[in-house]
Amino acid sequence: MNYISTRNKNNKVPPSKAILDGIAADGGLYVPESFPLFTDSDFEGMAEMPYPERLATVLSRFLTDFTYQELLDYATAADAKFDGDSCPLVKVDDDVYIIELFHGPTSAFKDMALSVMPYLMKAAKDKLNEKNKTLILVATSGDTGKAALEGFKDADGIDIMVFYPFDGVSGIQKAQMTTTEGNNVCVTAVKGNFDDAQTAVKNIFGDKEFGEKLLNKGIALSSANSINIGRLIPQIAYYISAYVDLLGAGETEKGEAVNFVVPTGNFGNILAAYYAKKSGLPINKLICASNKNNILTDFFSAGEYDTDRTFYKTASPSMDILVSSNLERLLFDVSGGDDKMISSLMKDLKQNGKFSVSHSMLAALDSLIAAGYAEEKETTLTIENFYNSYEYLLDPHTAVAVSVYENYINSCSDDAKTVIVSTASPYKFAVDVYYALTSTRVTDHFNALKKLNAYTGLDIPDGLQDLDLKTPRFNGVVKKDEIKDAVRQFVSEK
Ligand SMILES: *Cc1c(COP(=O)(O)O)cnc(C)c1O
Repeated sequence: MNYISTRNKNNKVPPSKAILDGIAADGGLYVPESFPLFTDSDFEGMAEMPYPERLATVLSRFLTDFTYQELLDYATAADAKFDGDSCPLVKVDDDVYIIELFHGPTSAFKDMALSVMPYLMKAAKDKLNEKNKTLILVATSGDTGKAALEGFKDADGIDIMVFYPFDGVSGIQKAQMTTTEGNNVCVTAVKGNFDDAQTAVKNIFGDKEFGEKLLNKGIALSSANSINIGRLIPQIAYYISAYVDLLGAGETEKGEAVNFVVPTGNFGNILAAYYAKKSGLPINKLICASNKNNILTDFFSAGEYDTDRTFYKTASPSMDILVSSNLERLLFDVSGGDDKMISSLMKDLKQNGKFSVSHSMLAALDSLIAAGYAEEKETTLTIENFYNSYEYLLDPHTAVAVSVYENYINSCSDDAKTVIVSTASPYKFAVDVYYALTSTRVTDHFNALKKLNAYTGLDIPDGLQDLDLKTPRFNGVVKKDEIKDAVRQFVSEK
């Protein structure tokens, strides 16, 4: 199976090349040319498997130039980095379940893909006989950065640079990134928000002259953001896993469609759910949950994507995004692969900061996706109420999803079983979670971690313990137009 660019379908590459390049040369995103179809008996078979086998089964249908055995080896090695089950499904109420995706080394769902992706990237280099050094550039809203650093630190033949918004991540997220180990890593703060960092990094990928200069030094750029299809394909597996867990536990009947509620930022996670649906997973509605940065809610209601609006910093910083890259992939698919139309929309976005889709396109999106958002106050209240009702502690991102789901269910009659996608450990956002529970604002992040532990008795994840005792290794701050210089400098020091 090949992958094609959303901006030019004739630009066609095998899976390994799509992963290694990270983004298509024409600026488009690689998408599967076709989708495999999983049948009821495939799902029944997977219900019997441990997670690494489920993951390898899904990967093998999408990454056809890798063998099943290779993929199983990578999935098994990735799984070993998790604390217990990779993605347990917890029943919280009648017909409502939570899939926990935060048991990886960095306590956020980004680990689900980034613990396996470095193996895929290294194998892709071997398959393509790529001798250049790979330099991965990452723009992060907080969680991708650390998960990518953990995944790629000390990887042979691969270096990684992470750019995070200076004021836009939680104190714990920042400490996780700046104390990272490894000799092939660099972490830099950017004066600006996530969109500024992501745009600057995307511009570097599009800068042919700069790319040539690096290639002359034996360095090829790649990406570990969800613009890289190597991030999205592993994420399809946990949607299928949640479904077959429900089936295996007798909670659903064969073929019964369920809802997934996804706290959304760059639209990668929810796009993986859509790809699962395309591959035969019975999904009723995909519920796209945003925080106060509700550009997606507006888009799905009116068909206009307009970035000319206030950017808010919220308690769910990993969703503080106005330019959701992976929407491009959804629009490409829903338009039947209209690469010309996508190119023109993306040109509008670049030149005018907005684009609009047709009524028929909006209607098609409406049948797939329900979108909503939560104000900050609702998020806080949801954390408190959910803890009081179920003794279950939500992180602010997952609380956004729960709040949006509650509004959804109150406004329509949908009795499909629903899985809430939980994307982070509450400890990553200890200050805000502790405030939601107690109305007390502790300013020190590490103190909040301890207080939250004393209040709830929940274990602090290993990776977040003793972070305050580690010395930060990186304190560089650059302006958004200096990111390229930072790359130049990192390369020259190597
Ligand atoms: C990245 C992230 C999100 C948003 O996921 P996207 O794939 O960017 O939509 C939500 N919650 C948390 C905790 C995250 O780290």
